[in-house]
Amino acid sequence: MEGAEIRRKFLEFFAGRDHEVVPSASLVPQNDPTLLFTNAGMVQFKDVFLGREHRGYTRAVTSQRCLRAGGKHNDLENVGHTARHHTFFEMLGNFSFGDYFKREAIQHAWAFLTEELGLPEEKLFVTVYTEDEEAARIWLDEMHIDPERFAYVGAADNFWAMGDTGPCGPCSEIFYDHGPELPGAPPGSGEDEGDRYVEIWNLVFMQYNRDGDGTLHDLPNPNIDTGMGLERIAAVMEGVHNNFDTDLFLPLIHQAAEQAGVRYNESDATDVSLRVIADHIRACAFLIADGVIPSNEGRGYVLRRIIRRAARHGRMLGIQGAFFHQLVQPLVDAMGHHFTELDEQRATIERVLKIEEERFAATLTEGLAHLDEVIRSLPADAAQIPGEAAFRLYDTYGFPLDLTEDIARERGLSVDNAGFDEHMAEQKARARASWGGSGEEQVPQAYYELLENHQGTEFLGYQSLSAEASLG
Ligand code: ATP
Ligand code: MG
Ligand code: MG
Ligand code: MG
Repeated sequence: MEGAEIRRKFLEFFAGRDHEVVPSASLVPQNDPTLLFTNAGMVQFKDVFLGREHRGYTRAVTSQRCLRAGGKHNDLENVGHTARHHTFFEMLGNFSFGDYFKREAIQHAWAFLTEELGLPEEKLFVTVYTEDEEAARIWLDEMHIDPERFAYVGAADNFWAMGDTGPCGPCSEIFYDHGPELPGAPPGSGEDEGDRYVEIWNLVFMQYNRDGDGTLHDLPNPNIDTGMGLERIAAVMEGVHNNFDTDLFLPLIHQAAEQAGVRYNESDATDVSLRVIADHIRACAFLIADGVIPSNEGRGYVLRRIIRRAARHGRMLGIQGAFFHQLVQPLVDAMGHHFTELDEQRATIERVLKIEEERFAATLTEGLAHLDEVIRSLPADAAQIPGEAAFRLYDTYGFPLDLTEDIARERGLSVDNAGFDEHMAEQKARARASWGGSGEEQVPQAYYELLENHQGTEFLGYQSLSAEASLG
């Protein structure tokens, strides 16, 4: 079963259970200036959960595009190294706004997995929050889950909160056991679950409101917020152990492999690069489709960092010249059907990526040579790349700090971040003292033009979102 079909089945399953099918919101949160990116399905419903906004429905279902590449949730460093983490992914979710609660949420989830998708119960593992006896009883006594595949887990994993105060509550998570040939221990054992026991679905039971003293008060109408990673359930349904081996990623990986003249599954090193590139093209394309333009700060800098990391992996694969933008078409083929904004913005996305990659190409070559030189000249027992060198790479060659850290990690080194920060602070002080207009980034004219074109679409997107927030 392909990813697109799972998405469709999920939306239809919950539509059939009276859920409003609501389109994915933008990666750029429209109602929350404190949040860098939409990182979960609930983000677009935050005000509904808080009771500040009312919609014409009390049950909703979405497939929400998410980005976890900055802020509190950052999975950037995991990408390519685990079978299950991406920067950009889709979160399938069903929501109840004061409508059904724990029992029904559990029943829906279990029915979707075991009946609709036909997954064998023996492959599933369930956790609840240590103090949530109510959920434990539902799973054990009513759903008849095998106690061998059930565990209580503490607050770090199984208690969710919107912030320091406000709505919060226990979670129940469902894992899929990919089998003993993979590394990892059962949830609740205190050891790493690895790529064996993969968390596929998180059910959040939003039943409390935490006040300023930290006291929990029962919410009069508790809510349900759930999230299941489409890529993870696709791996399960396609019988593979790595999300990157699903139909959602393989066309991208094969295209990159062709450009590089390598084959996927040939060597670990090239596989990591191919997976990183396949991950990053999704993140970058959707960011640009949602109106983000590469820049030196904020969201635009996250985009720039991701593009530059992808460019470096392309270089590691031996690709000469700009290649990244050529992955947009296979991505549109794979996802443009559901996410029409991707198809509509295709030309813009390609142009931005091409300009950005070409701008970085020359300094990438020089910077990599410089970094090699720095590493060669380190004493044999050195564990760190000096902050000054990392700063030089940033300042002269445009290497974001995380790119230097990534390269350092591959060589068994870390980076002196404090030293980097010191040099950065000094440079800022110097720039302030001699403010004469230099040192400003030259933004290519093409970006301004694209930005203008974009604002039109962003505005329309926002309008249509608030005016008719549903498909059906
Ligand atoms: P993990 O513990 O595996 O990092 P999480 O607990 O951080 O996941 P949640 O915040 O509970 O994840 O998000 C709900 C669901 O979204 C997860 O159960 C998982 O299926 C999916 N998900 C979370 N992060 C990622 C990611 N980086 N890439 C792909 N899917 C993800
Ligand atoms: Mg996580
Ligand atoms: Mg988790
Ligand atoms: Mg979770």
